[in-house]
Amino acid sequence: LPQQIDVLIIGAGAAGLMCAAVAGQRGRSVLVLDHANKVGKKILMSGGGRCNFTNMYTSPENFYSENPHFCKSALARYTQWDFIALVEKHGIPYHEKTLGQLFCDNKSKDIVDLLLAECRAAKAQIRTRCSIESVQPQDTGYLVETSLGTVRCKSLVIATGGLSIPTMGATGFGYDVARQFGLRIVPTRAALVPFTQHKRQLQRQQDLPGSALPVTASCGEGSFHEQMLFTHRGLSGPAVLQVSSHWREGEAVSFDLAPDRDLAEWLAQQRTEKPDAHLHTVLCGLWSKKLVHHFLTDKGIESRPLKQFSSPELAEIGAKLQTWELVPAGTEGYRTAEVTLGGVDTDAISSRTMECKTHPGLYFIGEVLDVTGWLGGYNFQWAWSSAHAAGEVV
Ligand code: FAD
Repeated sequence: LPQQIDVLIIGAGAAGLMCAAVAGQRGRSVLVLDHANKVGKKILMSGGGRCNFTNMYTSPENFYSENPHFCKSALARYTQWDFIALVEKHGIPYHEKTLGQLFCDNKSKDIVDLLLAECRAAKAQIRTRCSIESVQPQDTGYLVETSLGTVRCKSLVIATGGLSIPTMGATGFGYDVARQFGLRIVPTRAALVPFTQHKRQLQRQQDLPGSALPVTASCGEGSFHEQMLFTHRGLSGPAVLQVSSHWREGEAVSFDLAPDRDLAEWLAQQRTEKPDAHLHTVLCGLWSKKLVHHFLTDKGIESRPLKQFSSPELAEIGAKLQTWELVPAGTEGYRTAEVTLGGVDTDAISSRTMECKTHPGLYFIGEVLDVTGWLGGYNFQWAWSSAHAAGEVV
């Protein structure tokens, strides 16, 4: 390892590599250290192997933080369009999947290769399999002891991410460094994570794993109109992952199972058009056979030809079928969560530079900060934007 470097970045993930490239291209000497056996592991596994690297509609409203204004400056100065231009510069084919979410046509590795090419152009050095033993402030800069030797740096950038997926190398290292320097940590919890359900409920749903339907999932202030998926352990799919960021232990989540229509009105209309049709047949126009069977049995509704239901009966059935209230048993936790809510309190950090206000030369970027995006490419955009902000000044 070099003994002296301008910029030492801990964590060779999305934010760390981006920051290395930007700082190196400004002529700074840069070293990136990571304890994992390879760089960018989360990028590689992201987006089902195709990395949802940004979202065309990224705006500060797509992020959670105790200070919702904090992310604005960095997002405005390095936007989704800047990252898209970089992707295009590297000739990486991509497409919009849905809702502005941009994915690689081929593999997530294209994004890791992009970052490594930018780091090479910036002459940034990268070392993996390096554990960090201690961080000490010096008169100017920091001294970092590692398993590969001791390094002195003028700027120290913490880019070690959140707690999700420990098997991929996630640790609480960044929070420990923050605490060492007297910074507060906004309590963390797993987010963008599937719900687990109680055994009794799972037994009632035993035919459903694999079934999906569009819903509006709501909890607290969060409301998301996307797909929900039944699994062997509970519920998943984008609507569920999104709403999990609003959920707290013991709270109920409400699902509108037919978000595009008022079921009571729709059933009344169906009765006028097809009086002899059975309730379950008509509902198969909305949901799969399995789901219809489940919803009717679960709510104790008997299927008959529509003409045999009175108007109040149909209205009651419509209302019963429309919403499903559920108290999840829990979440799958950090084991499978895409992100960590909470993190280093942004009060102590400059929103322009990501520098710690009380410790010049110490920076926090990416997911380790108390800035968490929705599902859909926002978390990577935060990694790129915050990394760029720091990379321009370290
Ligand atoms: P990371 O990318 O997690 O990088 C942190 C780095 O620090 C890692 O390389 C790690 O090994 C290293 N590190 C940690 N602790 C130490 C230590 N003690 N010493 C040395 N090094 C350390 N977001 C999207 O926007 N789109 C997606 O499609 C998407 N898909 C995802 C899929 C999955 C399964 C997961 C888990 C997450 C996904 N995310 C997605 C979220 C996204 O991956 C993260 O928000 C993003 O990677 C955060 O970037 P980061 O650089 O802050 O942290």
